[in-house]
Amino acid sequence: MKSLIRLMTQEILLIAELKELCNAEDLYKRLLLHITNNKQSYGGKQYGMPIMQIGNFAWQYTPGQAEEKLTEWQNVLRVGGNKTVATREIIRWKKALSGIAVVNEYPRIWQDPEIGDLEGDVSDKLKPLAWLLSHELAHVIDYNCGATGGGHGKRWQRIYRIIRNAFVNNGRYQMFDTQQVIQFPKKQKKELRMDLLGLPLFDLQVA
Ligand SMILES: [Zn+2]
Repeated sequence: MKSLIRLMTQEILLIAELKELCNAEDLYKRLLLHITNNKQSYGGKQYGMPIMQIGNFAWQYTPGQAEEKLTEWQNVLRVGGNKTVATREIIRWKKALSGIAVVNEYPRIWQDPEIGDLEGDVSDKLKPLAWLLSHELAHVIDYNCGATGGGHGKRWQRIYRIIRNAFVNNGRYQMFDTQQVIQFPKKQKKELRMDLLGLPLFDLQVA
């Protein structure tokens, strides 16, 4: 699993470089990547270095639990609990009951069609991981590449939207099913195309 997390991280950073958000190779080399169980995930900057911790990742709202949880939240609503929270949870558990697994995003963006709650098939274990890495690496890029926006603010959202569309929403993460090895492209010295350069001169000489 650790190698998969590293490979996905490299892939996401390469996508970010293509979108001119960061220097992928430099950022990956300096990144303090901590992979752990049963702990929170975060991404950012510490002592001047890019840092990311990846803890648990799994679908949070699954069809198997849906019926029970839906009843619980409907009871919360009935006894006058927090209506905003309960309504949001009920919407998510209803989705789960219909067979769609869900991971929640921040209240500020949870209904955004591109960077809101993640939906998918409960058997697709890679999607919540791809989602988590996109979310946290957007923080890493926000804090370490260019002017920092911070938190879940506008700059983070813009970076996250680009990464999530290009890696998660379009299904690109699925290529990791086969655990292909992704390598950073070696920076090649620009070779002079002698075949092309020589021709006009030759033409001039014979003219
Ligand atoms: Zn976050």
